[in-house]
Amino acid sequence: MEFFGGIRPLLFSYVLINGIFITLQSKEEVLLDMRATGGELGWLTWPLDQVDKPGWEVVQKTLNGSQFYAYSVCNVGEPEQDNWLRTTFIQRRPSASRIFVELQFIVRDCNSFDASVPCKETFNLFTSESDADVGTTFRKGQFKKVVTIAPDEITSKNGMRINTETKVVDNLSRKGFYLAFQDIGACVALLSVKVYYKACTATVESLARFPETVAGSENQALREVKGECVENAQSEEVPRIYCTADGEWVVQVGHCQCKPGYEKVGDTCQECQPGFFKAASSDGKCEPCPANTQGLEAGAAFCPCMDGFYQAPTDPITGPCSGLPTAPRDLVATTTQLSAGKLLLSWSPPDDTGGRSDITYSVECQSCEGGACRPCGEKIRYEPASAGLTLTRVTVSELDAHLNYTFIVEAHSGVSMFAGQASARAHKPPSTSALTTSLHYTDPPKITSMTVIEKSVTSLSLSWDVSPRPRLHAPPIRYELTYRKKDDNLDVTTYTVLILEKSSVQISELAPGTAYLFRVQALSSDGSPGGSSIEEQYETLHERPFPPINTTAILAAAVGGAVMLFIVVVVLFLRRRKRNSHSRQGAEDNYFSSPEQLKPLKTYVDPHTYEDPNVAVLKFATEIHPSHITKQKVIGAGEFGEVYRGILKVPGRKDVAVAIKTLKPGYTEKQRQDFLSEASIMGQFTHQNIIRLEGVVTKFKHAMIVTEYMENGALDRYLKDHDGEFSSFQLVGMLRGIAAGMKYLSDMSYVHRDLAARNILVNNNLECKVSDFGLSRVLEDDPEGTYTTSGGKIPIRWTAPEAIAYRKFTSASDVWSFGIVMWEVMAFGERPYWDMSNHEVMKAINEAFRLPAPMDCPSAVYQLMLQCWLQDRSKRPRFGDIVSLLDKLLRSPDSLKTIADFDPRVSIRLPSTSGSDGSPFRSVSEWLESIKMSQYSENFTCAGIINMDQVLQMKNEDIKNIGVRLPGHLKRIAYSILGLKDQTSTLSVFAV
Ligand code: AMP
Repeated sequence: MEFFGGIRPLLFSYVLINGIFITLQSKEEVLLDMRATGGELGWLTWPLDQVDKPGWEVVQKTLNGSQFYAYSVCNVGEPEQDNWLRTTFIQRRPSASRIFVELQFIVRDCNSFDASVPCKETFNLFTSESDADVGTTFRKGQFKKVVTIAPDEITSKNGMRINTETKVVDNLSRKGFYLAFQDIGACVALLSVKVYYKACTATVESLARFPETVAGSENQALREVKGECVENAQSEEVPRIYCTADGEWVVQVGHCQCKPGYEKVGDTCQECQPGFFKAASSDGKCEPCPANTQGLEAGAAFCPCMDGFYQAPTDPITGPCSGLPTAPRDLVATTTQLSAGKLLLSWSPPDDTGGRSDITYSVECQSCEGGACRPCGEKIRYEPASAGLTLTRVTVSELDAHLNYTFIVEAHSGVSMFAGQASARAHKPPSTSALTTSLHYTDPPKITSMTVIEKSVTSLSLSWDVSPRPRLHAPPIRYELTYRKKDDNLDVTTYTVLILEKSSVQISELAPGTAYLFRVQALSSDGSPGGSSIEEQYETLHERPFPPINTTAILAAAVGGAVMLFIVVVVLFLRRRKRNSHSRQGAEDNYFSSPEQLKPLKTYVDPHTYEDPNVAVLKFATEIHPSHITKQKVIGAGEFGEVYRGILKVPGRKDVAVAIKTLKPGYTEKQRQDFLSEASIMGQFTHQNIIRLEGVVTKFKHAMIVTEYMENGALDRYLKDHDGEFSSFQLVGMLRGIAAGMKYLSDMSYVHRDLAARNILVNNNLECKVSDFGLSRVLEDDPEGTYTTSGGKIPIRWTAPEAIAYRKFTSASDVWSFGIVMWEVMAFGERPYWDMSNHEVMKAINEAFRLPAPMDCPSAVYQLMLQCWLQDRSKRPRFGDIVSLLDKLLRSPDSLKTIADFDPRVSIRLPSTSGSDGSPFRSVSEWLESIKMSQYSENFTCAGIINMDQVLQMKNEDIKNIGVRLPGHLKRIAYSILGLKDQTSTLSVFAV
């Protein structure tokens, strides 16, 4: 029987239309392409010499000038067929251990033959590895079956159907291999066989160049690749990246940056243009040269100062250059109020500071007699100093009266000295200001009389006269008033001294009925007392006595208040205890009250398969009229808009509390469809542990998704807020609920892809329900998502290695994530892998390390986690197994009593096991600081724990005993100690 019969031309035109000549994406390296070979392929058929009923045959056809070769076999009706077709020897590239076989084939419908004849509709793919080409030697026994190939569509009389399938042959290790196709009595035509492996193409990512890398096998799905910075870029650490088994780069570490003088342009570092500079290795752009600098050359790391402009050594090299300051202005000497050879010089800052704020001044004095001036010498005193002045004034003293002086005030800036040293050519602008003045001398005035103007119980108002009286417009005279209690023991007399600018004062806060002695004296202009003083005695008025205080009444009121307060506190405490015991009881009961769900018969339907997504929404969700929804309060922020708590009032139905997800204004049609896709998915599920969809609003402008309301919100947050408040039994009960929900989803063939405690919601009964079903959620919504090179987003620390490596998202990868959720729950919402980076997490997982058991975690629960994290996904438990096991544990709570030990051999190293520089902690306080527990420093010291050796000896009980009571803190400290101990033992790979 011949396969093609009269329909062969149709077959080939289809082949052409469908573009069989596929240009391979660069990341697919072809090892064999049957169609591209063009001529005779020379493939071996077996058995040989079957003239009467030949097995696989080459069929050649020319169409539109192109020749095609196909292999076909069609021994339908013949019993016991066993026809083999073997490729030529395919050389493997040493690192390509995972290859892809893409087949295009046609299988004829057995119904088109006589029903009584034997007929098959499948054939088999085999492979055999070898280190050398064995030529025409063919032994069936050396071939291993890869897979049975069944067509998705069979070819009948009504039309030709071409199937395209890609199969994976993994873990190849020898120099080459053969593929073989076994026919067992079907009518098959093999149109194309293409064998290729995937590679991550040579790439430049963030200025790091990575070489082409062959993608790994399932066993070693992530290959770490070292890269190097592009020319004129540098990095502190060697840049690294992972190549996934799918030929995608993910999670780069080590950041290359353009060197000084270079900036990033695309994937290269280009020199800064003349007039621009870049001072450091950074991601930044070249910047224009700052003020008063010049950038004449390209590739400048800094711009030198223009002539006449300078930088101080402390100025940033990236800053502007500045000129020298001009002279100080308006220099004056205050010649009034002179006393004891003193005057005050003051001036205004220069007009031009040269663009600097660090201006200081120096003063020089010359005494001039008969036209000749000479330096005043060391006798002269300056207050506060003669140089380095930041204020624009100085007091000069020890001057001789009636002499002429010249004062020269000079302005300086941070560049003054540097300018002098740096450039002899530099033009130095005048920065001095000179003043000549004469010194006159006057005595301070005398106090002639003092009187008291007003008296009270605690204050006295005094006034005094001076001689000579100050002239109009003369500068004010200052006075020093000293007073003390008259009858003070002279050994311990307390004086109060006031400096006043007026000749009167009111002194308050004095003792009632007490005599005081007052002395007043005028001050000279430099603040020293001068002239004669006057002393007087005045007395404050006596107090009037108050009625006696009723202390008994006050005491009685205080005691009464305290008793009332005590009663209120006791009542509140008792009520709270009662409420807590209710809620705990309710929670435990609840785990057993939910009826076991029947295995759903339905299969999940991807809303994408609907041409019009709006049709999908209406099929799976009930339309709600917006008037039936009342929004009450914002409770969260979703990807598309706010989430509200509200009430759904449907006529004829009881009001229900609901969560309302809204779509923010300004959305595109695509966003609206993505938003509603969550409802299309959620609407297909009915399970106690899956969030229930109440309905949608799609027919009005503001689209909404309405779900049941979960009072306690997201599980991770809830557990963090109730750290240590639940028993293992309760936590396992929560996990049981999540597992039941996941079992339901996996039974419906729905893969969640983003199972994490943050996507589980908790209600008042502590029931946990799986949520977050948006189609785009893994791509967009999750803040934990990390971008891959193809733009997808993966929440690395929750995702199974094969899903990271080659997007193998299955219920088994959901099981891995469930294991992480188990850990999050048992650790009361702790972040998985703490503050390790995504890269560190992937590396540790690749090296077979796993998260350690959370504190107080039952051993059986931890063992289940480890099972969920088996590298080989086929060995992980199914959700059905997980539900059964958790049920078993809950039925015999004693099984939860054995607590998992920390085992350094299996576990990822715990956080904060050494100082930031990697060396061991030098002190208890350094260690406590590193784990943010410094508040307990004193507890450790008081307990006599003063060195790290003592810390290492501590048990959980000891930590409690020194006063660490909060469960979260207790846990953090205990964990860190475990981690410290772990450092002292060798880590070995745990064979999971
Ligand atoms: P989602 O867009 O689903 O991630 O929701 C954002 C946040 O809104 C969640 O983290 C919850 O805090 C809150 N939320 C969403 N749905 C509900 C619900 N059914 N009941 C209570 N809170 C919810």
